[in-house]
Amino acid sequence: MTRQPIVGGNWKMNTTRASGAELARAVAQFASGSPGCQVVVFPPFPYLLTIADALKGSKVMLGAQDVSDRADGAFTGEVSCAMLKDCGVSWALTGHSERRHVIGETDALVNAKTRAALGAGLSVILCIGEKLDQREGGQTDFVNETQLRAGLAGVEPASLANVVIAYEPVWAIGTGKTASPADAQGAHAHIRKVLGSMYGSDHAAKMRIQYGGSVNAANAKELFGQPDIDGGLIGGASLKPADFGQIIGAASV
Ligand code: PEP
Repeated sequence: MTRQPIVGGNWKMNTTRASGAELARAVAQFASGSPGCQVVVFPPFPYLLTIADALKGSKVMLGAQDVSDRADGAFTGEVSCAMLKDCGVSWALTGHSERRHVIGETDALVNAKTRAALGAGLSVILCIGEKLDQREGGQTDFVNETQLRAGLAGVEPASLANVVIAYEPVWAIGTGKTASPADAQGAHAHIRKVLGSMYGSDHAAKMRIQYGGSVNAANAKELFGQPDIDGGLIGGASLKPADFGQIIGAASV
């Protein structure tokens, strides 16, 4: 089964409006040389329109780092899926570890956001992954399975074409520590097996599973070369245009 690799750049709470636009133009340039790979960037909310403008005419897609699970109304500070679409957004992140473990989002909220985004016609990257103590306790597969089943609860098979899973071990995010290609492949294979038990092996074989956690220009190729790794979700290195360009190149088939 050939799956098109997908590389995401999660800018988190970084860049200015001007530096974000410059970064977006550089990403657009790199992506144009890698037709085999999908590329999506996740800028901060206030810059979405500026970045949408900078990406116009390129193949790079625009994503939101978060979405509200509510459609509209008295939810101060929240941003709805419809508002994001109105700004040119086509992808949303749900379940990122910083939102789970720093901000305190529960599996139930991650699921509500995932369903809201899919229902609104956005594509979703659902992030899952274990913390260091869970890894050391041998619970990696258990945690991934629990977050996967909870995150996708109620998601119909018909929506799966719009879902990507990002396996991001929490201990590897922003730390410079990366899962070995073999360990990452083991986790991805288990995730695909769980998807198979949820939706059947045909769907599982088609679904893309990205790796995230301190991916850089030097380690991307080997990670992305694993049979069940379909590209990556990149934080720190996505802010460095040349490095991100190399990562896009590493994912391209
Ligand atoms: C992320 O934020 O999803 C991420 C993987 O960050 P980093 O690449 O910096 O580890």
